[in-house]
Amino acid sequence: NITESKRFSKFDSARLIDADKAHYMHGYHVFDDHREQGSLTIVDGEGAHIQDAEGQRYLDAVGGMWCTNIGLGREEMVEAIADQTRRLAYSNSFCDMANDRAIELSEKLAELAPGDLNRVFLTTGGSTAVDTAIRLVHFYQNCRGKPEKKQVITRINAYHGSTYLTMSLGGKQADRPPEFDFLSDGIHHLSCPYPYREAQGRSEAEFLEALVAEFEARIAEVGAERIGAFLAEPIMGSGGVIIPPEGYHRRMWEVCRRHDILYISDEVVTSFGRLGHFFASEDEFGVIPDIITTAKGLTSGYQPLGACIFSERLWEVIAEPGTGRCFSHGFTYSGHPVACAAALKNIEIIEREALLPRAREVGRYFEERLATLAELPIVGEVRAKCFMACVEFVADKATRELFPEELNIGEWVHLRAERRGLLVRPIVHLNVMSPAVTLTHQEVDFIVDVLRDSILETVEDLRAAGHW
Ligand code: PMP
Repeated sequence: NITESKRFSKFDSARLIDADKAHYMHGYHVFDDHREQGSLTIVDGEGAHIQDAEGQRYLDAVGGMWCTNIGLGREEMVEAIADQTRRLAYSNSFCDMANDRAIELSEKLAELAPGDLNRVFLTTGGSTAVDTAIRLVHFYQNCRGKPEKKQVITRINAYHGSTYLTMSLGGKQADRPPEFDFLSDGIHHLSCPYPYREAQGRSEAEFLEALVAEFEARIAEVGAERIGAFLAEPIMGSGGVIIPPEGYHRRMWEVCRRHDILYISDEVVTSFGRLGHFFASEDEFGVIPDIITTAKGLTSGYQPLGACIFSERLWEVIAEPGTGRCFSHGFTYSGHPVACAAALKNIEIIEREALLPRAREVGRYFEERLATLAELPIVGEVRAKCFMACVEFVADKATRELFPEELNIGEWVHLRAERRGLLVRPIVHLNVMSPAVTLTHQEVDFIVDVLRDSILETVEDLRAAGHW
């Protein structure tokens, strides 16, 4: 799909590899691997496809990082970004300053968000949106005279970002190496609503009851008067595409209502088409949160941007007239006009091309086709909801026993898929996928066919190496 411009020929990949090793520390930098193997350096992209510095093409089933929702290389996006840069590349959004694009985007997000979530704080990405949400909860509780009510309940396996606070809210063991420190005061982790591994023989309904009971018990233990908010991704993303039992969010939300606990839905991944809706909280899970955080698909990755969208109910408390209060929180690039212009054009494209119903339709096909992989020998479970998907590998399908972690089974399949022109994201024993939501049926077929071949080749290689 990438234009035959041979643009990649200008890249000196050997030089890039050396400079990368000499200077560039990546997110989640694995020092030994990077030193030995360097990086896959991407230089070009169009639609769901990307190309590396040596001219090799891939279908990017990772979708950048859950973010390239409308696909790469859209001329209209380039124009919108260029036009805005020419007209006004930057203007600050502090105190009484604003720019037209930030205002227009806030108005649009208020229109798209559920319920009375009409108030928008723009950030630089997902982590800063979640960080803002927690600061907002604390501000709100202080304003309403409940300074004790600030603790936050999250979940094991959750991912909410990479700032000090948001990483502490996260619950992935792999993100907690001993060299890093974490905040623990006022943060509580509930069980992961992970039917395949945690239901342990109980029916989905019984498992759900246990999860709700655990939440109630934790509230009783900590005291509702000390808990400010419950924070949850509708479907856990990097925690392994964990799709909770039917009705889970609705039940957790009802518990929150009963105990005056704010419900924060972290839709950094699940919004802007990934699950076939602008926001999944209400449309897919029947919940109207108090706060929604979003980023990624908000601009489809064309510009860094995030948002914390919250209810009139909170606004009325924090903005009470005559108090002289200031919400002393803001980033230099909050409401960045070029990022906001990209988001507005992205939303316009999603609406004009009716990408949401299309994503739901092709997403269902993706779910069905992926499900056929469940019959393969080392596949324990295939989990997919629209364009969030994951294959979980096991050494024993009956006992669900995992391969030893050092074997890095996800990486085995990933490398074999990469050689066939497909990128998936290996996370220990998982292959995670979140491709562009504009995927065609043929591209879905390509992903599933390549995965099947790569898994079967992995099985043979595991046998040959005596691992299986
Ligand atoms: N929340 C969720 C659910 C995420 O998946 C991520 C990023 N993967 C973040 C927050 C953090 O977003 P960012 O990397 O843009 O800061």
